[in-house]
Amino acid sequence: MQSMEKGLVIVYTGNGKGKTTAALGLALRSIGYKQKVCMIQFIKGSWHYGEMYSANILKPEFELVAAGKGFVGIIDDDKPLTEHKKIAQQAIDICRKKIQSNKYNTVILDEINYAVNMKLVKLDDVINIIKLKPYEQNLVLTGNHVKNKIIDLADLVTEMKEIKHPFKLGIKAKKGIDF
Ligand code: ATP
Ligand code: MG
Repeated sequence: MQSMEKGLVIVYTGNGKGKTTAALGLALRSIGYKQKVCMIQFIKGSWHYGEMYSANILKPEFELVAAGKGFVGIIDDDKPLTEHKKIAQQAIDICRKKIQSNKYNTVILDEINYAVNMKLVKLDDVINIIKLKPYEQNLVLTGNHVKNKIIDLADLVTEMKEIKHPFKLGIKAKKGIDF
């Protein structure tokens, strides 16, 4: 009988830069073995950023779903909160489908911790999603301010801690580094 390897629940949180970058690093490593990775982005959506283009180069192994639309309450946001909640709810439904499809070795829920924190998605919905993941599948959740209940269910939790960030020195976000 073939032994099944338990997939991990991985959390990247904290105030330092590198949470989404770390998740993308895992994706790149995994895709090297022709494993399938799906990243569902909760907050991003209407902007252009590198991984959007990488998804084209790395298909069919890498799939990227931009489920969030804009940054809630930040910069160019012009949508009412109810609209964001509706979009976030749809994003949760996408996650459930993708995870249960059992097509992927790893599913990444990018910035989902923010979505929970902003009460765009229910913590219980995320917990249920974690519980229904296929045994062998890895699930990555990124975003600062992760809830303790999610930490309790995780196998690996890393907190990125800001020591220095160029933003504080007035250096703007850089192509290929920040987006
Ligand atoms: P990245 O996508 O670069 O790995 P992240 O996922 O850790 O960053 P997020 O909280 O998702 O960080 O923030 C998104 C954007 O904010 C990114 O462009 C990132 O570079 C920037 N950022 C992250 N951490 C900081 C910080 N401590 N100070 C200022 N800007 C930050
Ligand atoms: Mg991020």
